Amino acid sequence: LVNIAGLHKHFGTNHVLKGIDLAVEEGDVIALIGRSGSGKSTLLRTINGLESIDKGELVVDGTAVHDGKGDLRALRQKVGMVFQQFNLFPHLTAGQNVMLAPTVVKKTAKREAEDIAKEVLLKVGLSDKFDSYPDQLSGGQQQRVAIARALAMRPKVLLCDEITSALDPELVNEVLAVVQQLAAEGMTLIMVTHEMRFARDVGNKLIFIHHGRIHESGDPKTILTNPETPELANFTRAVM
Ligand code: ATP
Ligand code: MG
Repeated sequence: LVNIAGLHKHFGTNHVLKGIDLAVEEGDVIALIGRSGSGKSTLLRTINGLESIDKGELVVDGTAVHDGKGDLRALRQKVGMVFQQFNLFPHLTAGQNVMLAPTVVKKTAKREAEDIAKEVLLKVGLSDKFDSYPDQLSGGQQQRVAIARALAMRPKVLLCDEITSALDPELVNEVLAVVQQLAAEGMTLIMVTHEMRFARDVGNKLIFIHHGRIHESGDPKTILTNPETPELANFTRAVM
């Protein structure tokens, strides 16, 4: 579903991604871990076209984006993304936030967009919050609206960048539960997370990024229990 080969990214003289190779199959739940500054967010952002690529190949569901003539619009319809900060529009209700992209980007009729919004808000456990404004919702609820907003575009793959890091500890689980549910339903997920237990229990593949390279990857339980490299061993010791 997502194929990445020899991907390089620089910011000026900062060589951030140094040859990433990654094949994501449909239904994969991939946890990306690594130290601050290792390139995790940059990798996610290249996958949905928020960052350009200097070298290498990136193909998402048959849409190539590395050759400069890639169709960014088509790409972004296939790739949903949820960020640490929820970025909801404060002057729009939860329902309106969710309806926005389908109506504006896909030109979905308002009635149909409303049905989709109701369906995805139900999925994240917020069917009763359609008319609530973001400031009337808890952080966990706002983040679930942000997930619903991404789902409304019917993405092939959902990218999550530390989506629980801005939440109070007691709100983390309700958001993780939604992600776990999506995983169980077969959604393809790539998530940057510091929730190691979640990465181990929900992910089917773990990727440890170190200085812009995939330093270690494999079955989460196996590589977290028996890291092959001292770098991953040190990392897990520091975060677990
Ligand atoms: P964190 O865990 O702190 O979120 P990360 O692994 O997500 O870290 P990135 O955000 O991908 O790391 O950053 C990787 C490197 O790229 C860092 O050195 C960062 O300073 C640099 N970088 C990221 N975005 C930009 C940008 N827009 N312009 C310039 N440099 C950037
Ligand atoms: Mg980051």
